Amino acid sequence: MPQRHALMIAPVDTTDARDDYSGTFTPMDVTAPALSVGELSTQRGDGVFESIGVIDGHANEVEAHVQRLAHSASLCDLPAPNLEQWRQAVAAAAALAPSGEAVVKLILSRGVEHGPAPTAWATVAPAPDFATVRREGVRIVTLDRGYDLGAGERAPWLLLGAKTLSYAVNMAALREARRRGADDAVFVTRDGFVLEAPTASLILRRGDEFVTPEPSAGILHGTTQLSVYEHLAAQGLRTGYATLTASDLVKADAAWLVSSIRLAVAITAVDGAPLASDPDLTADLNAFLLSPR
Ligand code: PLP
Repeated sequence: MPQRHALMIAPVDTTDARDDYSGTFTPMDVTAPALSVGELSTQRGDGVFESIGVIDGHANEVEAHVQRLAHSASLCDLPAPNLEQWRQAVAAAAALAPSGEAVVKLILSRGVEHGPAPTAWATVAPAPDFATVRREGVRIVTLDRGYDLGAGERAPWLLLGAKTLSYAVNMAALREARRRGADDAVFVTRDGFVLEAPTASLILRRGDEFVTPEPSAGILHGTTQLSVYEHLAAQGLRTGYATLTASDLVKADAAWLVSSIRLAVAITAVDGAPLASDPDLTADLNAFLLSPR
């Protein structure tokens, strides 16, 4: 059975209230060309996406991802996605997933230039093997994000809270981290506040309290961070949002990068200086994140 699949999604209006949207999904040959050369997602990165973790055919946190897709679409002035259609698209894609860990990706593009409608599709593929990094953690470098903490609210056209397809900057930051001998990066504002990693949210432990940067600071509100917070709160642990400086990160009792596919990885060093980690809690978080949610 092939490992990768794709479904084209014919977007429908939010007022379309049919029970079954399967007729709006068309399986695609993943080895054949599928997009028009006029596609604005490929020309300009003009669109939004989601990556959803699938474990043994079960897609995790579907509602949070579909809601964030709608939020990103709204920030980008894209037509509002029909949420029930996208929930069913996730289910249809997850049903094609190989056993073990897989990724369903949802893409909603502005479509073809001058075209009548957005272009939308879903893919499913096996996830990379992250077992080692979940066990051993990542060394990070802090990288200047080039703007101050207020930029997200002052300049909404920067789309800082949207999960847009324009990830070239995020990928460049990861390459820069590797050039500096690290595995990953944490973005820092011009005024010295930590934000997020290029593809993950940051969580710090300070004593028995867990903190993460405020989503209003122009970062993506991570679905995994929200799940981790629910899990920690269920154990009676304190969780919260805060404005955190780069020195808060260095002084943390432990810190993690969390995201839907790689899940929770401990930060073991910041700019070359070792950071304490908590392997038992990391293992507990990953056991939770690997369970159906
Ligand atoms: N921040 C950024 C910039 C991301 O790209 C991602 C995930 O790709 C996250 C945070 C974590 O989001 P989630 O936990 O929903 O995967």
